[in-house]
Amino acid sequence: MFDVIVVGGGPAGLSAALTLGRAVRTTLLIDSAEYRNAPAEEMHNFLTRDGTPPSELRAIARAELGRYPTVEIRDAAVDNARAVEGGEGFELSLADGDTVQARRLVLATGLADDLPPIDNIRELWGRGVYHCPYCHGYETRGTPIAVLDADPVMVGLALHLRRFSDDVVLCANGGGDQLDEQTRARLAANGVPVRFEKVVRLESAGGELESVVFDSGAPLPRRSLFAQSRFGQRSKIPAQLGCRLLPDGCVAISDFHETSVPGVYAAGDMAHRESLPMPTPFVIVAAAGGTMAAIAADKNLVATDTAI
Ligand SMILES: Cc1cc2nc3c(=O)[nH]c(=O)nc-3n(C[C@H](O)[C@H](O)[C@H](O)COP(=O)(O)OP(=O)(O)OC[C@H]3O[C@@H](n4cnc5c(N)ncnc54)[C@H](O)[C@@H]3O)c2cc1C
Repeated sequence: MFDVIVVGGGPAGLSAALTLGRAVRTTLLIDSAEYRNAPAEEMHNFLTRDGTPPSELRAIARAELGRYPTVEIRDAAVDNARAVEGGEGFELSLADGDTVQARRLVLATGLADDLPPIDNIRELWGRGVYHCPYCHGYETRGTPIAVLDADPVMVGLALHLRRFSDDVVLCANGGGDQLDEQTRARLAANGVPVRFEKVVRLESAGGELESVVFDSGAPLPRRSLFAQSRFGQRSKIPAQLGCRLLPDGCVAISDFHETSVPGVYAAGDMAHRESLPMPTPFVIVAAAGGTMAAIAADKNLVATDTAI
C-alpha cells in the first residue's frame, strides 16, 4: 500500500511526485507516456526552460525524482481504478496485469485532442498547426497566418494574432454564416480578410506547412494555421471513480485540488477550479497544480494519521 499513487507523468504528475518525495511519502508514479505536447519540438513560457523540448523537461524531472528514495516510477497504463470496499484507499489494475494500492490518488492524466477533419492536420499539429497564441504566437510573428473556423473564439484569435503579423486570414471553412455584419466589419477594420470556402487539405513540404487548400479557389500560401481542438479526458479513471466533471469535460476541483471523490486529487489540463470558465492548459500551470494537489493529499494524510 503506497501513501499516494500519482497517475500521469506529464508536468503535473512529475511535479506532484516531487512534492510527495520531499514529504517522505511512499509514492508510485504511473505513466503511459502519451503526452499532450508530444508533437511540439519546443516548449515555451516555462521559466528557465523556454524553448526546451518537452521530452527534456520530463527527463530532467525524472532524474530529480531519482534523489527521493520513497518515489518509484512505473512506465505502465492504469486500466481500471476503484475505491477499496469497506476500507481506506484505492486499487488500480494495470494493463500489464499487476494491481497496486494507495491511500490517496493524484490524477494528472491530461487531455487528448480531437482535431478538425482536415487532411494532413494531425501530421502538422504542434509543427505549423497551433492552438495557442501564448505557446506559439511569438514564433509566427511576421509570417502569413491562417485561422480556421468562424466561431467567436476563432474570430477573437484572428484579431489577437494581428499583434504578431500583418498577414492574418480567417478561413471560415464553410461557416461564413456565423459572421454577422458587425463581425465582418470588425475583421475588415483590423485588416483580417476572410476566405469563405471549405478547407479540405493542408499542403506541406519537409514537414512544414506551405498552403491551405480549399474545395474551390486558389490555395492560400501560409506558414501556420491556428485551429481549435475538441478535447476530452485522456483517461477513463475519472469516470471509473465517479469524479464530477465540469461542462467542458474537465474534472471539477476545489481550490486545494480535491475532486468530488474523497481521497482523490487532480491537477494539470484534465482539471480546473469551477470559478475558472475554461482550462488553463500550460505546462507551468500544470506543474504548479501538481504541487498543490500533492500538498493537499499529504496534509490530508497528516490530519488522518494524527487524529484522536
Ligand atoms: C501541440 C501542443 C503544444 C503545446 N505547447 C505548449 C507550450 O509551448 N507551452 C505550454 O505551457 N503549454 C503547451 N501546451 C500545453 C501543454 O501540453 C499542457 O498544458 C501540459 O502538457 C499539461 O500537462 P499534464 O501533466 O496535465 O498532461 P500531459 O502532459 O498530457 O500528461 C498526462 C500524462 O498522463 C498519462 N496518462 C493518461 N492516462 C493514463 C493512464 N490510464 N495510466 C497511466 N498514465 C496515464 C499520459 O500518458 C501522459 O503521460 C501545448 C499543447 C499542445 C497540444
